[in-house]
Amino acid sequence: MLQLYSVITINRRLCLKLCACFSRLRLYITICAFALQFDVVGQETRLIDEIKAHKDGIGLWWVGHNGWLIKSGELLISTDILLDYDKRIEPPKITAEELASELDISFITHAHKDHFNRSTSVVLLEKSECIFVMPESCLSVAELLKIPKERIKVARPREPFDINNISVKPIRAIHGNANFSIYYDANLQDSGYLIDLDGTTFLQPGDSHLLEDHLFLEDVDVLFFSPTEHNMYIDRSVILINTLNPDYIFPQHHSTVIVNESTRFWAKGYPDEVKLRLSKAMQEKYHILKVGDKVQIK
Ligand SMILES: [Zn+2]
Repeated sequence: MLQLYSVITINRRLCLKLCACFSRLRLYITICAFALQFDVVGQETRLIDEIKAHKDGIGLWWVGHNGWLIKSGELLISTDILLDYDKRIEPPKITAEELASELDISFITHAHKDHFNRSTSVVLLEKSECIFVMPESCLSVAELLKIPKERIKVARPREPFDINNISVKPIRAIHGNANFSIYYDANLQDSGYLIDLDGTTFLQPGDSHLLEDHLFLEDVDVLFFSPTEHNMYIDRSVILINTLNPDYIFPQHHSTVIVNESTRFWAKGYPDEVKLRLSKAMQEKYHILKVGDKVQIK
């Protein structure tokens, strides 16, 4: 009888202990779930907070496709910012409204919707005071969006200018198409940009075949390039990189837009294939970013 009582008492104690453990475990799981949720919520607002908090040197963020945000001091500029877009694989890490609170200059290379993003530009027009730098080939779209002339700086290839203490060299861009061809509507107005920000130069070539205009550039610190079939693909990207020998090399125009048979020639990039063909020294300067990543430029 005593033995049976002991067994019952021990089992009861064990049960109580187990219950306490389970209840602590449940509390722990609840806290974890809450923390996880908080973290997920936190991540959604992280990029704009990171941009606002950046104070020292030059900060660079990739927001997908040819979209770059570059901040030096209090000045924030963008190139071909593509946020709200139906063909995006993932939603953007920053909204146009958030960006509008900080952006000073929006550089646009040509009128295609994945570069001159209509919905983002309308929000920037209404909720920011940013200047739009764009080639003449974009002006008809700008008019449709009702961007007033005083908010536009027209860029013409090979005609340098200064804006907000930045030196800008518009670079010729000749647009390609599927099967490595030159695009039927290619023109001499579309423009890439060599942007000199506090002595550091950034080359955004836009969508273009490889041109002597690119190879003649002597001082490129940060290179963005597009290893897609309709741009410089693998071989010409390697030539561009080896000729310019920049300090930072960033592939763009990849991993942002859904790839299928009809988008493949422009949405599929080959950044790994380019990297494989570079020397060890060049590979160390080569960075394949994920959307939302930040790089501190020295
Ligand atoms: Zn493009």
